[in-house]
Amino acid sequence: MANIVENIKDVLEFYHALGFESLPVNLTVKNKPVAMGRKVKDQTRSDKEDLLRKLREEIGDCKRCKLSGKRTNIVFGEGSPDAKLMFIGEAPGREEDIQARPFVGDAGMVLTRLIEKMGFRREDVYIANIVKCRPPMNRDPEADEMEECKGFVERQIEIIHPQVIMSLGRISAMALTGDAKLKITAIRGKFFDYKGILLIPTFHPAYLMRNPKDKWLTWSDAQKVLEILRAKS
Ligand code: SF4
Repeated sequence: MANIVENIKDVLEFYHALGFESLPVNLTVKNKPVAMGRKVKDQTRSDKEDLLRKLREEIGDCKRCKLSGKRTNIVFGEGSPDAKLMFIGEAPGREEDIQARPFVGDAGMVLTRLIEKMGFRREDVYIANIVKCRPPMNRDPEADEMEECKGFVERQIEIIHPQVIMSLGRISAMALTGDAKLKITAIRGKFFDYKGILLIPTFHPAYLMRNPKDKWLTWSDAQKVLEILRAKS
């Protein structure tokens, strides 16, 4: 009980430090907090590296869903195992499929610029996708594919245990909030709870390439993330 009271106190102090007089109205709690007792919190960078390596080994030459048929490579994800900030997109594209790395095509350049503008290097954060194989013709991943693959990114999040997740685009936000009807224009920049971790959805970099006028909205979402990271440091 004392722990619960302490946790609530921490949360209230955290939001107060951000200037909130009350909890954000759009903070939605859809999932039970992840089992993040001392064990997960106290893991060292090398523990996390090891766990991520084991997870990649477990995925192996995965054929759990139909996306395995046309992929060149599984795109596991990359970055710091100890990242405070994670970016999660929906699926690899053509260049990512070839290089086996997330966000390395044109949209990746937009994401990299955002990361750098926020004062980080790519290797300081962690970047992954909801599904790890490229959907044909870059179509949206289908529900059965996401269902099959989502457990892997969930475990990456659990291992890394970032302070904030920025989800990129509608599909990723849908998968992480469990809300299949959300509109990214309506929920971007708002705060959600993902198993005890703050989740802030924003636009997908590919959308920003088509709609550069909306880049400032993503920048304002990024500024909220920076404020939160500053308040937590
Ligand atoms: S998308 Fe995920 S579940 Fe499907 S084959 Fe690739 S790694 Fe396996």
